[in-house]
Amino acid sequence: MTLAALKSSSLPFPFELTRSRRKTLVVYVKGGKVEVRSPLRASSEWILSFLTDKSPWIQTQLEVQRLKQRERLIIADNRFVPFLGQPRLIQVIIGTQQKVVLHDEYLYFFVRETHRGKLEQLFNNWLLQQAKEYMATQTIKYARLLGVEHKFKNVVFRRTKSKWGHCCQDGTIQYNWLAMMAPRDVINYLIAHETSHLKHLNHSAKFWNTVALLCPNYKELRHWLGENGHRFWVETKT
Ligand SMILES: [Zn+2]
Repeated sequence: MTLAALKSSSLPFPFELTRSRRKTLVVYVKGGKVEVRSPLRASSEWILSFLTDKSPWIQTQLEVQRLKQRERLIIADNRFVPFLGQPRLIQVIIGTQQKVVLHDEYLYFFVRETHRGKLEQLFNNWLLQQAKEYMATQTIKYARLLGVEHKFKNVVFRRTKSKWGHCCQDGTIQYNWLAMMAPRDVINYLIAHETSHLKHLNHSAKFWNTVALLCPNYKELRHWLGENGHRFWVETKT
């Protein structure tokens, strides 16, 4: 069977096939797409039978990802947006100013015009500012508590799709500022995680023991972030 035949086979989903020097077949479902990695000479029949076996699981994953996509945030007047884990009602006020002000359960957007892209951009900038104030300070505090302040270089913010944080070998810690929408405990777990990498640049038992010093219930919070993190994605360019 040729690859073209394989693709037009009875499978209910399209997929991308990458052949490489590997011994096993593996399938990933990411961002609503199915990706198969196979050994160089894997036969089309083998790949097809593998995908047929995995088909129920693949379709469940695709459906879960479709639902998550639909749950994404919309930044608009009278919509709720989470900040520090609490829903805040967006209130757009048209005038001459351009700023975002948090007041209890309300998030006021002062704008000159209600253009959706503009609201998203303002929200992102405001959230990034909140992240710079809170996450950077908390990182230094945790680094001091762990006695690794000398290994800490600086904090940078980037909106990476794959992860919430990252610690580089040179002591630079990177966070995704969208994490500011999560409850404070979850943000603190994320900071505890990355700061603990200043001590152990791996995910060994020693590393997790260090995380537990700062964040005893880290397992629960890590799980929460895995289950709910997707709700904090806002589709914008900044
Ligand atoms: Zn890590």
